[in-house]
Amino acid sequence: SSSIGGSPTIQGPDQYELLTKIGDGAFSNVFKARDKTTGQLVAIKVAQKRAQIGNKKKQVKCTHVLKEVQIMRGLHHPNIVQLVHFTESKDDYYLVLDLCEGGELFHHIVRLTWFSEDLARHVFCQVAAGVRYLHEECGVVHRDIKPENILIESLPDQSEFGNVKLADFGLSKVIPGTETLTPCGTMGYTAPEVVTDQQYSKSVDMWALGCVLYTMLCGYPPFHGDHMIAKVVHGNYSFTSPWWDPISASAKDLIVHLLCVDPKQRFE
Ligand code: ADP
Ligand code: MG
Repeated sequence: SSSIGGSPTIQGPDQYELLTKIGDGAFSNVFKARDKTTGQLVAIKVAQKRAQIGNKKKQVKCTHVLKEVQIMRGLHHPNIVQLVHFTESKDDYYLVLDLCEGGELFHHIVRLTWFSEDLARHVFCQVAAGVRYLHEECGVVHRDIKPENILIESLPDQSEFGNVKLADFGLSKVIPGTETLTPCGTMGYTAPEVVTDQQYSKSVDMWALGCVLYTMLCGYPPFHGDHMIAKVVHGNYSFTSPWWDPISASAKDLIVHLLCVDPKQRFE
């Protein structure tokens, strides 16, 4: 129920009218929805509170959703999908989010086959700004950056994309011990491996940014097909001719510095 003593003090899920399903995952469904009082359109990620794993009778609690919410509550940036409200019913959690009408970057790559360098730069710079905010201002690593989790705010007009936002904090983590690195913390007692771990945890997102940039420019991912794990481990990808021939040296150079196997050498 959304009211206590007749006044709508708590916005429950009844507050929203679910319209169409716009995304689904293993434990969640995302709907386009309307706030019944304001008429505002939103996206709502509905996630089960408990789930059955395999054919076991026992249900497990889906606490990862609460972690996702906890992290999202601290995030406010034009290139990060905003959590506007969090509520629950008996069986589900409801993450009310800013609606990105343009949908997934993934669909636009499929639709356009590949992006011009101008369009790829436009998207990349915004995603990178979101990642910089996460890493430098929030101490958060996303850990699942991919074209399915990059959303376009409004429906693109031809190939003109507007605002681009990073979504899905389901796998993200607070970088352990970041509070000890603040100037007022006890930095003097922090062990080198703690500092090193913190630096490396961010580098997974930088690798993923390299994969996204590569995919936008040619329409296929850098690592695919047989023996994919071995290819990733060795950083075995190529700028295949003829697709990569017209692409600028500076774009390739950026990819080379992001898809760098040694995280110490990788761009930050
Ligand atoms: P999952 O953890 O299941 O991958 P996501 O948060 O990635 O959940 O959401 C799944 C899909 O739902 C996304 O890939 C996207 O297509 C759609 N979606 C999620 N959030 C929004 C949003 N704010 N606006 C529009 N579509 C969204
Ligand atoms: Mg996702």
